[in-house]
Amino acid sequence: MNIEKFSLGIGDRFGLEGVAQLRALQKAEAEGAIVVPVWNKSNREHTIIGTVPDDVRGEADAAVKMCGWKHSYYVDADHIGFTTVEKFLNSSNFFTIDVADYIGKEASQESVEGFLRAMDDYTGILSIPGIPAPFEVNDSLLKSIARKYLYAIEEAGKVYRAIAAKKGEGNFITEVSVDEASSPQTPAELFFILAALAQEKVPIQTIAPKFTGSFLKGIDYVGDIKKFAREFEDDLAVIAYAIKTFKLPQSLKLSVHSGSDKFSLYSIMHQAVKKSGAGLHLKTAGTTWLEEIIGLAAAGGEGLVLAKDVYAQAIQRYDELCKPYLTVIDINKAKLPDPKIVASWSSQQYVAALQHNQSSDSYDRNFRQLVHVSFRIAAEMGQRYLGLLKECRKEVEENVATNLYERHIKPLFLGIETNVFHETPRHEAARV
Ligand SMILES: [Zn+2]
Repeated sequence: MNIEKFSLGIGDRFGLEGVAQLRALQKAEAEGAIVVPVWNKSNREHTIIGTVPDDVRGEADAAVKMCGWKHSYYVDADHIGFTTVEKFLNSSNFFTIDVADYIGKEASQESVEGFLRAMDDYTGILSIPGIPAPFEVNDSLLKSIARKYLYAIEEAGKVYRAIAAKKGEGNFITEVSVDEASSPQTPAELFFILAALAQEKVPIQTIAPKFTGSFLKGIDYVGDIKKFAREFEDDLAVIAYAIKTFKLPQSLKLSVHSGSDKFSLYSIMHQAVKKSGAGLHLKTAGTTWLEEIIGLAAAGGEGLVLAKDVYAQAIQRYDELCKPYLTVIDINKAKLPDPKIVASWSSQQYVAALQHNQSSDSYDRNFRQLVHVSFRIAAEMGQRYLGLLKECRKEVEENVATNLYERHIKPLFLGIETNVFHETPRHEAARV
């Protein structure tokens, strides 16, 4: 099983928007861009919402059938580890093995030495095509990378083998994620992480590094865009080179765990993958739920009442709701609108404050972030929430599909050759 060149990780907290999401991808297909869906949901999300992995499989299968989607599609066990993978084994065919928690744990003396011996060939000046400045690789760099990452990679190997034992090798896509690490990986670190994964015989197809800058939930990128652009291009070059050097799968590509809505990075990523011929997996996860709230608010009546209730409760439970997300949100609490004022808002006012339209004066970055982390409140509303989502289907689906297509798929994926992977195979094909 090889992942396609372009794929989109789509989260759907309440599991009702699979068809709307797929419609957005079908619109791209009609424009000539094949971008395959990967429905992802983490263990934490399942726990908060009260769903199980089989629900995501059911949603994906039903949406594909309903829409007549002809390409592949995947169900991602998102951010799993050895203790959480079990319940995802039946329903998933894509596994994001998260080893960030193991970074910095000491590997055995024996494996560190083995790694250093295996990497001996790369010491000296390492030039990677596409990266302007060559790296100096010496023992101290290799030792520091081994100390930081080797144990984590061994853990990834352990989890991979547990999955393979159940599902059979080649029957699923393997991603390894280190995006929740405390500091970004340098291109050199990424190169040797891929080397170690190859040594562990993990047939990795997507890798999620931590990038420079802040990837906050549901809002745009915060950081140095030029620095990101350089790092992103370097990472693409590292991957292309690592595929050849370590005989990793041809389909290996970057996975960007975006935290959703990194609009200012899309044109950069678009240019870089277009130029290099690389593939890309973008996880955009959570904001489908915000589009549901936007749809309900737009529908007016009880939908708008519920959207206001979510906010009023969110203000009261501010600390509890924000606590699990403190590293990935940046809310100025003093600037949040008073719920009494929000209670008087029209549909348009609510939608304008929540919708991620940075050119609008009414867009409220603080309000948006707080509502984003408040999905627990909607989950607790149970039938009241789910029932309204069904009643206001038209508005909700329209917002979900338009958001995904116009703001994400179009700027990122449209206008790039979607079937040919990397430059290397293309050159080889030309020689033949
Ligand atoms: Zn992630």
